[in-house]
Amino acid sequence: MKIQFLGTAAAEAIPAVFCTCDVCRKVRKTGGKDVRTRCQTLLDDSLLIDFGPDTYHHCLTWGVDLSRVRDCIVTHVHQDHFQPAELTYLRRPFAVTPEDYPYFRIWGSEDIAPLVAETFANPRIRGEYREIRPFNTYEIAGFSVTPLKANHGTAHPYVYLIEKEGKCLLYAHDSGLFPDETWEYLAGLEKHLDLISFDCTGGTEDDLDYEAHMCLGRNVRCRERLKEMGLVDESTRCFVNHFSHNGKDVLWEDLEPQARAAGFEVTYDGLITEI
Ligand SMILES: [Zn+2]
Ligand SMILES: [Zn+2]
Ligand SMILES: [Zn+2]
Repeated sequence: MKIQFLGTAAAEAIPAVFCTCDVCRKVRKTGGKDVRTRCQTLLDDSLLIDFGPDTYHHCLTWGVDLSRVRDCIVTHVHQDHFQPAELTYLRRPFAVTPEDYPYFRIWGSEDIAPLVAETFANPRIRGEYREIRPFNTYEIAGFSVTPLKANHGTAHPYVYLIEKEGKCLLYAHDSGLFPDETWEYLAGLEKHLDLISFDCTGGTEDDLDYEAHMCLGRNVRCRERLKEMGLVDESTRCFVNHFSHNGKDVLWEDLEPQARAAGFEVTYDGLITEI
């Protein structure tokens, strides 16, 4: 399974849109891996995770041809992960597509429906929405996709268990420590997780005074619990992802050594890896 991290920031990106903090001023000058756009990931060039405000930028920068991607699973309805306005350009003649062009499908919780209803009601738009329910498994673009409940403050946010050809990915954006129902589901699984992408919005903090995100300390404890359940072992690759300029030690030179010492790899925009 090819995993391409297209964007690796929290809502306002790094450097943040209007921000003059030390981190953002520095990153505007130095660029490189510290420039992070809104969180989005592509699997095997065919399954998109989230449809945020930097989707078009990601297509241009990382060579993604959206006309060849048929399916997008959405984690939750925060604007950095779901920006449905762009879907209007599926409409002819904004998109010049052959008669047999298949529908672009958005898969997600019932929170998505009201946000796409008007757009997808237009018969000239080759797009459709499919509701998916937590703890059920769906075949999407050749992957087995199981939405799990997240802890994130929107009505029905998901993290995803995604499997293909014997490989298993846990995509945990956005979420704080998982709700009990998700832990119970995970405890009943007899699987090996090959890769986990953890929410690390708080950077290298040990803990946070809010529930809805994680930080390196929470990532460590979450990984331990998964290890106790037998889902994680030394071969599981654990990535930290979804960073904020307000997080602790968020610049690459500070973040990467601390993450590595804790057994985590750090994502950056454009990173491609394989499991
Ligand atoms: Zn987010
Ligand atoms: Zn800033
Ligand atoms: Zn969010």
